Amino acid sequence: MLVEEIRVKNSYTRESKLGKEHVYTRFKTVLRFICDCCEKEFFRDRGNMDPNRINNNYYHVCGNCDAKRFAQEKGVDKRRIWNIGVNTDIPINKL
Ligand SMILES: [Zn+2]
Repeated sequence: MLVEEIRVKNSYTRESKLGKEHVYTRFKTVLRFICDCCEKEFFRDRGNMDPNRINNNYYHVCGNCDAKRFAQEKGVDKRRIWNIGVNTDIPINKL
């Protein structure tokens, strides 16, 4: 589950041609997630993410969990949902 976007300021130091040290800063955006599998908090760089997946229409699984295994178990959940009946108010993207 996507929780929030955090802007992180990073400071880097580079050495100039004359040997002077220059400090420069860069911002990057980090996304905070709660793992849909183990419910632990984890972070991921926004730049490393597929922009289409930065929303809660998708499940987000942390690096310690096996995403493929999680997806398989979700398939089982889906079948259980279908057994409930057709007139539930579960949105189509949660199936
Ligand atoms: Zn996890």
